[in-house]
Amino acid sequence: MEFNTALLHRGFEIDKKTGATLTPIYQVSAFSQESAEQLEKVFNNKATGFAYTRISNPTVSSFESRVASIENGIGAIACSSGMAAVTMSLLNILEAGDEIIAGSGLFGGTIDLFSDLKAFGITTKFVEHISAESIEPLINNKTKAVFTELIGNPKLDIVDIKEVSELVHKYNIPLIIDSTTATFYLIRPIDFGADIVIHSSSKYINGGGNSISGIIVDSGNFKWDTDKYKGMAEYKKYGKFAYLAKLRNGIWRNVGCCLSPFNAFLNSVGLETLGLRMERICDNALKLAKYLSTADGVEVNYPALESSPYYPLAKRMFNGKGGAILTIRAGSKERAFNLINNLKYSINATNIGDVRTLVIHPSSTIYAHSTEAQKQSAGVYEDSIRVSVGIEDIKDLIEDFEQAINKMNASSYNS
Ligand SMILES: *Cc1c(COP(=O)(O)O)cnc(C)c1O
Repeated sequence: MEFNTALLHRGFEIDKKTGATLTPIYQVSAFSQESAEQLEKVFNNKATGFAYTRISNPTVSSFESRVASIENGIGAIACSSGMAAVTMSLLNILEAGDEIIAGSGLFGGTIDLFSDLKAFGITTKFVEHISAESIEPLINNKTKAVFTELIGNPKLDIVDIKEVSELVHKYNIPLIIDSTTATFYLIRPIDFGADIVIHSSSKYINGGGNSISGIIVDSGNFKWDTDKYKGMAEYKKYGKFAYLAKLRNGIWRNVGCCLSPFNAFLNSVGLETLGLRMERICDNALKLAKYLSTADGVEVNYPALESSPYYPLAKRMFNGKGGAILTIRAGSKERAFNLINNLKYSINATNIGDVRTLVIHPSSTIYAHSTEAQKQSAGVYEDSIRVSVGIEDIKDLIEDFEQAINKMNASSYNS
């Protein structure tokens, strides 16, 4: 089955009772079972079925199963946000004293989370860019996870997952990939050796910018050593489903960061057009990046431009596509603000993966809590603008950037 067909059919079954072509919104908190015995079984994982929406819900399960099968995983757990997915993917396996190795070009919220985790005895070692060479010297017996984004947001560095997964597996450490910016349109990280894949489905999967959510997909491939990951011992009986079983029966359900059935429904609707949207968005982004590379007074960074140091990896891993995000350096903060304010169609908002083109000045917003050093290594400068390209007609987008850049250049000359 090819990609767009898979988005419609894989992991999805037409509702048997009604023939509904989408899984309906089961907007309820609790599910009754025919007997006390049956509810006991459902509660104790001895029978399939539903009990309470914080633990599972048919609309949410349908979304989970579609994403899991498209990502080539064995199962998935949806969360109330992408940040909840990042947090739960790690807390499911970590305890006080453990260490994470992560890329410093991560999404601002994830960097903030890693400093919050210090209070619980979990520390993070950051490297400028995740590669086998950069992380190997940092691995010790406390290292329990390597966490990275595939395309750093907004650094736009690309990680060679095959190389990194081969290295971490030698040390029996799982590789957790935040694939939000790449999406399964560009790559299925599990095929390259990733163990756990997470998405902020608020972004490209939902696609319409209409609800916050996240999802954790398990490859089922990682062999959990129960001396090292002590909490896994109790779940060993679930075999390759141990990680997911622990998550659903443990911290994920106890923290209570479940996805609402309504938002799961919106995500399933969005998922079906991911291929069409990403095809258009990647095409727009490349054309806009090419235009920007010729414009006066700005510098552009986009992985599918030959000028990007990650161009060979984008070619090899993503078939030459560069994703939806590009960054612009405008020369100064004032000029960056001026450019943003002069854009007519690109909306100034802190989001990516919308059908609309969105722009933001990361340094004064998403990275407002970061130190100068953290900003530098995340590729965030005083004059950087992040652009999340949408599905508008490219002619309008280029014209819009052209007039805004001209105005910016004119006002800098005048002042
Ligand atoms: C947005 C984002 C997150 C956080 O997701 P939310 O849904 O906003 O909680 C995590 N990682 C990346 C790469 C993101 O872009």
